[in-house]
Amino acid sequence: MSKNIILTGDRPTGNLHIGHYVGSLRKRVELQNSGKYESFIMIADAQALTDNAETPEKVRDNVLNVALDYLAVGLDPKKSTIFIQSQIPELTELTFFYSNLVTVARLQRNPTVKSEIEQKEKFKTGVPVGFFTYPISQAADITAFNATVVPVGEDQLPMLEQTREIVHKFNSLYGETLIMPNAMVPENSTAARLPGIDGNSKMGKSLGNAIYLCDDAETIAAKVKTMFTDPKHLRVEDPGNTTDNTVFIYLSIFATPEHFATFLPEYKNYDELTAHYERGGLGDVKVKKFLNEVLQETLRPIRERREKFAKDPKAVMEMLQNGSIAARKVAFETTERVKRAMKLNYFN
Ligand code: ATP
Ligand code: MG
Repeated sequence: MSKNIILTGDRPTGNLHIGHYVGSLRKRVELQNSGKYESFIMIADAQALTDNAETPEKVRDNVLNVALDYLAVGLDPKKSTIFIQSQIPELTELTFFYSNLVTVARLQRNPTVKSEIEQKEKFKTGVPVGFFTYPISQAADITAFNATVVPVGEDQLPMLEQTREIVHKFNSLYGETLIMPNAMVPENSTAARLPGIDGNSKMGKSLGNAIYLCDDAETIAAKVKTMFTDPKHLRVEDPGNTTDNTVFIYLSIFATPEHFATFLPEYKNYDELTAHYERGGLGDVKVKKFLNEVLQETLRPIRERREKFAKDPKAVMEMLQNGSIAARKVAFETTERVKRAMKLNYFN
C-alpha cells in the first residue's frame, strides 16, 4: 500500500467560505488534478450532528450546499470519491474500537476541542459526549480510507496528532494494521488560518464572519465595506498599519500581479501597496475597492459553476450516493482488517 491517499472533509453546517478555499479546498483540487493521489472527500454530517443534534434539517440541507461548493471549486467525482459520512456505518464501528485507546484526560487536553467548547454558548450547560469524542471519530475517518495525507487548516492539527497517537497505539497493541497519516497545512500561515471579516478569530461558518463561495456580487461588496482596517488610520495622510489589518491580510492571500495590472496599475504588487499605506497617503476606500475587485474576480467563476450544478440537485445527490457506495467498500475492508487484528473474527 504505497500509494498516496488523501482524506479530507467538511462539516455540513453551512456553505463553504474563502477560508476553506485557501486553507484546504484549493490544495485538494491541485492534488486531485496532479493524478498522483487517490482522494476521498467526506461530507461529515454525523460529526456535524455532534453539536447540531437539535437541528438535523440544517445538517441535511447543507449536505447539498457543501457538495455544490465542492463541484464549484473543481473537485471532480470522476477523479475523487465524494461521499457522506453517515452512509458508512463502519466509521462508527471503528470509532467504538478506537475509544478504548484514548483517555478522557487526553481528550480534555485537545486545544481545538477546548476552544470550540469555549466558543459555543449552548455548551455552557453541558458538552455532548459525541462532541467531546469527535477527535476519535476523525481518527476513524482518516484510517478507514488508509489516508497517508490529510490537507487541513491549522485548527485541525491537534486532531491529526490525536489520530497519529491512535494509529501508533493500535499498531503496537494489535500488530501493524493502520496507516500512519500526515497533515498537509498551507505553508502560508495566513492561508492556514484565515481570519474572519470581523478581524478577530478564524473565519468559520458557525461564527457569522465569513465570505461564502456562493455570495453574490453585492453581498461580497457589502461585506468588504464593513471590514476592519486600522482604527488609527483616520485621515488619508495618516501612516497605516497593515499587519493587523484584515483588508491587507486578504490582499496578501488573494491579490495577484495580474490583479494589480488590471485594477490598480499604479502599484506593481502587494509590497508597493503596503509601503504606501504604511507611509501614509493611501485611503481605506481605495484599498477596499481593490480588494472587492480581487474577490469578485476570484469568486465569480466559482459562483457561476455552482449555479450551473445547482440546476440539477438530483444529479448531485446521485453522485454522492455513488461515492458513498465506493467509499464504503474501502472502509469495510479496513474494518475487517481491524477486527482480525483485535481477534474479533470469530466466523472466518
Ligand atoms: P464550523 O464552524 O462548523 O466548525 P468551519 O468553518 O470551521 O465550520 P470545518 O468544516 O470545521 O469548517 O473545516 C473544514 C476544513 O476547512 C478544515 O480542514 C479546516 O481546517 C479548514 N478551515 C476552516 N476554517 C478555516 C480558515 N478560516 N482558514 C483556513 N482553513 C480553514
Ligand atoms: Mg471547524
